Amino acid sequence: MIPKTMQALVKTSAAPGMEMREMPVPSIGPADVLVAVETASVCGTDLHIYHWDEWAQARIKPPYIPGHEFCGTVAAVGELVTDVKVGDFVSAEMHVACGRCKQCRSGQAHVCQFVKILGVDADGAFADYVKIPASNVWKLGDEIPRDFGSLFDPFGNAVHTVLSGEIAGQTVAVTGCGPIGLFAIAVAKACGAADIFAIEPNETRRELARKMGAKTLLDPASGDVERQVFEATGGTGVDVLLEMSGHPAAIAQGFRMLRMGGRASLLGIPSRAVEMDLANGVIFKGATVHGINGRKMYETWFQAEALLRGGMDLSPVITHRLPLAEFDAAMKLLESGEASKILLTVKRQR
Ligand code: NAD
Ligand code: ZN
Repeated sequence: MIPKTMQALVKTSAAPGMEMREMPVPSIGPADVLVAVETASVCGTDLHIYHWDEWAQARIKPPYIPGHEFCGTVAAVGELVTDVKVGDFVSAEMHVACGRCKQCRSGQAHVCQFVKILGVDADGAFADYVKIPASNVWKLGDEIPRDFGSLFDPFGNAVHTVLSGEIAGQTVAVTGCGPIGLFAIAVAKACGAADIFAIEPNETRRELARKMGAKTLLDPASGDVERQVFEATGGTGVDVLLEMSGHPAAIAQGFRMLRMGGRASLLGIPSRAVEMDLANGVIFKGATVHGINGRKMYETWFQAEALLRGGMDLSPVITHRLPLAEFDAAMKLLESGEASKILLTVKRQR
């Protein structure tokens, strides 16, 4: 039996913080699925929303329920839903594309002009139940470790970035080893990258990068990173830059380390305009630059699932598990740089 109310973590007002509240269980339309959330994970975006920074103030409309990384069990389906049934274990693409804009109608729904993100623009998954359009639900097979279900969103970001160009036999620099950079290292490694240079100021995260398959760990603060990368690549520079930090200094440095004719795929989001040497970093190099937004719908999901079915281990990135109600502690852990991916257990005793 689905109850009428549920526990949810709510961004109650236009101010810092979030609160656990009793909320109505969402009612679903004919093409929707109601999922009983089992696990949700915390993303940097949630931290921005929690702290109510400038980006959050411009984008978020409280009151609403955040949370966009999750997995759970289907509790109810609308009468038009045929692909999933009650009891299926699922995750979901939380970018809801409009289906009508030029991009959506030409195979580029990941850059939909009118995208709505559940957990950002509408109610998300930090709750006992979440409502998802059936077309966005992704069924998870038994072969995929249950813990990895809520990681499809950030893991998919990494898969999309790494596979946006050639990777086998390539030398790769990953700038920023947060959860997505760490996932990218594992994907690049599994797809045959030759040498992976992980560039990250936080020592704990550099250690995780080693566990995920990076051969060379570099601290950007050491002042010696570029020399080491050029030395290790015979003076050529790396074939591929995967920018996973959003830090202006890392972006500029990444382009300096890229070889002539190399590929740069940029996922990290700078919080301000970035100054860099475009002439020498991109133009004269004949570099190919990719901006990476979200996950391709649904090519990335198929690739992510296949990699996990093939046995890719994401568990080193999961550093903490807490009940949803301990979100304050989770936000502190994430902020301190001590944590990588934090799983929040949502499932209540049913
Ligand atoms: P994160 O903040 O956990 O990781 C960023 C890492 O970069 C941190 O470990 C930080 O120590 C490191 N860093 C800081 N300065 C650096 C420098 N000079 N050189 C190298 N590394 C440096 O974030 P995450 O969750 O792993 O996400 C990675 C980035 O991707 C973030 O900027 C995030 O906003 C962005 N993002 C983009 C998309 C998209 O669709 N484009 C989706 C999700 C996240
Ligand atoms: Zn669209």
